[in-house]
Amino acid sequence: MTYSKETELLHRPKVKLPEGNEPMVMPIYQTAKFTFPSWAELLENHDKKTGFFYSRTSNPTVRQLENQVAALQGRDDCVALASGMAAVTTALLALLKAGDHVAFAYESYRPARSFVRDTLSRWGITSSLFSVRDPDALQALMSTKKPAVVMFEAPSNPVNHVPDIAVLTEIIHRHGALCLLDNTLGGLHVFGEYDVDIFIHSLTKFAGGHSDVMGGAIVGNDDVIAPIKALAPILGPMMDPHAAFLILRGLETYFLRFRHQCATSQAVAEFLEGHEAVRKVHYPGLPGHPSHALCMQQAESFGAVVSFDINGGLREAESFVDRLKLFYVSGSLGSVHSLVVPAQPLFASDYDEQTAEMVGVVPGTVRLCIGLESADDLISDLAQALNGEGA
Ligand code: PLP
Repeated sequence: MTYSKETELLHRPKVKLPEGNEPMVMPIYQTAKFTFPSWAELLENHDKKTGFFYSRTSNPTVRQLENQVAALQGRDDCVALASGMAAVTTALLALLKAGDHVAFAYESYRPARSFVRDTLSRWGITSSLFSVRDPDALQALMSTKKPAVVMFEAPSNPVNHVPDIAVLTEIIHRHGALCLLDNTLGGLHVFGEYDVDIFIHSLTKFAGGHSDVMGGAIVGNDDVIAPIKALAPILGPMMDPHAAFLILRGLETYFLRFRHQCATSQAVAEFLEGHEAVRKVHYPGLPGHPSHALCMQQAESFGAVVSFDINGGLREAESFVDRLKLFYVSGSLGSVHSLVVPAQPLFASDYDEQTAEMVGVVPGTVRLCIGLESADDLISDLAQALNGEGA
């Protein structure tokens, strides 16, 4: 049977690889739909939950990424979504219902807090805040408010508060709640040994690593992740296969980048601690940091975010940021490029002064997210900006 060129163009058989001949790298399955040779085979695969049908439900490139992230985090499964915030919102929507209460750490990412406070509240879900540094307050909150879900970060963004994960998860589970840990700053490979029900990651950060792709992940064992897997394709914030490909490529160098960024962060923190223009350094790798011992026992590294309070207030923080030459002025983290922002306007402007101070963000707080530049160059740049040169 011969067809017109118009028809042929749409129906030419696809190139097939011979048996055993595999692409070295997971290809980008840039397709919205998948097909089967017959309706019966489609139905059979659908019933057995095998194969792929529609990329909003599942896509092989995205699936490859989900398998990698689940394995790194030491859990059964993962749902990869379009951003870290899609992961936060989808997980909470799937796990909560009207009448539930959610406990959220003061020391957590501002858009996530605002989703709980301003959006979930419209659907009859109430919330309370607790400090990850005050397990007794969490204990009291669990007894009185009986939250269904408790969420916190380890360490927290932007000033690296380090929760005692064993202590917090014990309290949470003793009261029958689910524990969600946003592990974006901690890394993709840590804390799997703790009794955390759901891990959240912004894959935009250390997983992608190159500031060129957005993504998020929800990771957990089959029983906890089932309602999330069911709701995610209905809500629809699925990851695009091209994004999954970029993140898979980023992951191949994840350990090298992450460990190098952490080592440079330690050097940067030590330099800042000795500088007269710096009032306080928020980095748990410093022996004087209140969570240094806990972090040594709990984590493999101290992270690649170094925050500090500059002498003076917001104006000093802003002009310091503008004097830096190597740090990009940008609000993300985990990139090969070093980034800087004054922390208070981005992360704590929804808090009154007293609460912002309690969470450790003051007008002079600056957040550095360390990249892959040479430590010596970054430190020289910080020195010239702290000394007021280059203005
Ligand atoms: N969680 C934390 C701790 C973050 O720092 C961020 C982003 O900065 C997010 C979640 C949200 O991730 P995304 O920007 O990929 O939506």
